[in-house]
Amino acid sequence: MKKDFTPTLLDLGPLQIYLARHFGFCYGVENAIEIAFKVVEENPGKKIFLLSEMIHNPQVNADLQSHGVEFLQDNYGKQLISFDELAADDIVIIPAFGTTLELEKKLNDLGIQTEKYNTTCPFVEKVWNRSEQIAKKNYTIIIHGKPKHEETRATFSHAAANAPSVVVKDMQQTIELAKYINGEKPSEQFYDEFKGQYSENFDITKDLDRIGVVNQTTMLASDTQAIADYLKQVMINKYKLTVTGIDGRFADTRDTLCYATLENQQAVSGMLQTDADLAIVVGGYNSSNTSHLVELCEEKLPTYFINSEENILSAKEILHYNFHTKEELLTTDFLPNKKTVKILITSGASCPDALVEGVINKLTGFFSVNITTEELITKF
Ligand code: SF4
Repeated sequence: MKKDFTPTLLDLGPLQIYLARHFGFCYGVENAIEIAFKVVEENPGKKIFLLSEMIHNPQVNADLQSHGVEFLQDNYGKQLISFDELAADDIVIIPAFGTTLELEKKLNDLGIQTEKYNTTCPFVEKVWNRSEQIAKKNYTIIIHGKPKHEETRATFSHAAANAPSVVVKDMQQTIELAKYINGEKPSEQFYDEFKGQYSENFDITKDLDRIGVVNQTTMLASDTQAIADYLKQVMINKYKLTVTGIDGRFADTRDTLCYATLENQQAVSGMLQTDADLAIVVGGYNSSNTSHLVELCEEKLPTYFINSEENILSAKEILHYNFHTKEELLTTDFLPNKKTVKILITSGASCPDALVEGVINKLTGFFSVNITTEELITKF
């Protein structure tokens, strides 16, 4: 059935807010947060660590830290607390993105039971399981993801345990990889060009004969699909395949795309059909899925990527993040001087709804709005 991705209009008179049909917390994040707080509640007096940030949201992570939870690593795998400081009865929570087999083993060797406090999202595990299935059929795994992101590192580690694996970060790199499939580039060059992105003993001369594509679940679903379609066509052309022969060279992995990422992205496409003046995307600055929502919006209209309502300094000024240049910028006169201002709002999968509410309330305060939030809610 066709899903409805039209946004919800919050008609506040001079301010019209179009809220994405799907936004915010996904199942995996909600589940991980719930488990983490339950672990804290049930284990008073125990040392509780998180392998790395629970999710990419500063407020949620600060909340956990205020309950005594400490982070062992930063998002890029840099050690913040040495594993030597861990005792066997300490608790280490595995975050929603999962972790590498190597790290899991390291913790298990210290006597720490990682399986008991593992919040890895089932949809990430689905990617690992699918990789394993196609690995058993001798396909090489191509992972579309950010090479340094925890989830991609975890997926790579699980995939590489079963099959030759290589990470591509975008279409540009995929096109370059295809040149090795087609023999258009000298094979030796691959090892330099894809340094740090391929599994041990990867043999470029034969490991791209049979391939399957999986992704870091928070990448743009349309990008992953485009990469898979492109590589499929490369295989069809190279091996002169007919419809029946495609399976022998290219594994169908479409069922691994995360529903939540896809729905949040499709909901953004839905709200972009309106004639809004600007978009506000709420989420952690290091959140991959949030930056993809920003990417979609900024193609069409001025877009402000903010952490919380505190970034909206006044009706004139907004402090927002440019994820391309990784810097925070101050923009003045971000609200147009019009009788009715139309604003699109969405948030990333790791952003609590309370932050979106805070943003709506802050914006409402800048306009002569004659309706209370309660009255507005009764309309729904
Ligand atoms: S975005 Fe998808 S895969 Fe990632 S944690 Fe959420 S539900 Fe799981």
